[in-house]
Amino acid sequence: MNINKINLYIKIKMTSSNYYKIEGNKLVRTHRTCPKCGPSFFLANHYDRWSCGKCGYTVFKRKGAPKAKTARRTPRKRQKA
Ligand SMILES: [Zn+2]
Repeated sequence: MNINKINLYIKIKMTSSNYYKIEGNKLVRTHRTCPKCGPSFFLANHYDRWSCGKCGYTVFKRKGAPKAKTARRTPRKRQKA
Protein backbone atom coordinates (compact mmCIF):
# COMPACT_ATOMS: atom_id res chain seq x y z
CA MET A 1 0.00 0.00 0.00
CA ASN A 2 1.11 3.52 -0.72
CA ILE A 3 2.19 5.65 2.26
CA ASN A 4 0.13 8.59 1.00
CA LYS A 5 -2.96 6.41 1.07
CA ILE A 6 -2.43 5.52 4.75
CA ASN A 7 -2.31 9.20 5.70
CA LEU A 8 -5.53 9.77 3.81
CA TYR A 9 -7.35 7.20 5.93
CA ILE A 10 -6.15 8.74 9.19
CA LYS A 11 -7.28 12.22 8.16
CA ILE A 12 -10.94 11.22 7.77
CA LYS A 13 -12.72 11.60 11.10
CA MET A 14 -15.91 9.59 11.35
CA THR A 15 -18.75 11.44 13.01
CA SER A 16 -22.42 10.57 13.02
CA SER A 17 -23.03 13.20 10.35
CA ASN A 18 -20.83 11.22 7.94
CA TYR A 19 -23.34 8.38 7.88
CA TYR A 20 -26.21 10.46 6.55
CA LYS A 21 -26.82 12.78 3.64
CA ILE A 22 -29.73 15.08 3.06
CA GLU A 23 -31.02 15.13 -0.49
CA GLY A 24 -33.99 17.47 -0.88
CA ASN A 25 -36.42 16.36 1.80
CA LYS A 26 -35.01 12.86 2.16
CA LEU A 27 -32.40 11.47 4.50
CA VAL A 28 -30.06 9.11 2.68
CA ARG A 29 -27.77 6.65 4.47
CA THR A 30 -24.28 6.63 2.98
CA HIS A 31 -23.05 3.44 4.63
CA ARG A 32 -24.30 -0.11 4.49
CA THR A 33 -26.26 -1.40 7.46
CA CYS A 34 -25.73 -4.65 9.33
CA PRO A 35 -28.23 -7.38 8.41
CA LYS A 36 -27.67 -9.14 11.75
CA CYS A 37 -27.92 -6.18 14.14
CA GLY A 38 -30.57 -4.17 12.33
CA PRO A 39 -30.93 -0.99 10.29
CA SER A 40 -29.48 1.32 12.96
CA PHE A 41 -26.05 -0.35 12.92
CA PHE A 42 -23.74 0.79 10.18
CA LEU A 43 -20.85 -1.12 8.67
CA ALA A 44 -17.41 0.49 8.86
CA ASN A 45 -15.89 1.25 5.48
CA HIS A 46 -12.41 -0.26 5.18
CA TYR A 47 -10.34 -0.24 2.03
CA ASP A 48 -11.12 -3.87 1.25
CA ARG A 49 -14.18 -4.67 3.33
CA TRP A 50 -17.28 -3.47 5.17
CA SER A 51 -17.47 -4.62 8.79
CA CYS A 52 -19.83 -4.36 11.75
CA GLY A 53 -18.23 -3.25 15.01
CA LYS A 54 -20.87 -4.96 17.12
CA CYS A 55 -21.12 -8.51 15.81
CA GLY A 56 -18.12 -8.71 13.47
CA TYR A 57 -20.15 -9.22 10.31
CA THR A 58 -17.91 -8.47 7.30
CA VAL A 59 -18.52 -8.07 3.61
CA PHE A 60 -15.49 -8.15 1.36
CA LYS A 61 -15.25 -5.79 -1.58
CA ARG A 62 -14.33 -7.54 -4.77
CA LYS A 63 -11.66 -5.96 -6.90
CA GLY A 64 -11.87 -6.00 -10.69
CA ALA A 65 -14.25 -7.91 -12.85
CA PRO A 66 -15.57 -11.22 -11.56
CA LYS A 67 -14.04 -14.33 -13.06
CA ALA A 68 -15.81 -15.80 -16.03
CA LYS A 69 -17.42 -19.09 -15.24
CA THR A 70 -15.52 -22.02 -16.63
CA ALA A 71 -17.53 -24.23 -18.87
CA ARG A 72 -18.60 -27.40 -17.15
CA ARG A 73 -17.21 -30.54 -18.59
CA THR A 74 -19.78 -32.97 -19.72
CA PRO A 75 -19.28 -36.36 -18.09
CA ARG A 76 -17.77 -38.96 -20.37
CA LYS A 77 -20.01 -41.70 -21.50
CA ARG A 78 -18.82 -45.15 -20.72
CA GLN A 79 -18.06 -47.24 -23.68
CA LYS A 80 -18.67 -50.94 -23.55
CA ALA A 81 -15.67 -52.94 -24.64
ZN1 LIG B 1 -23.70 -6.42 13.30
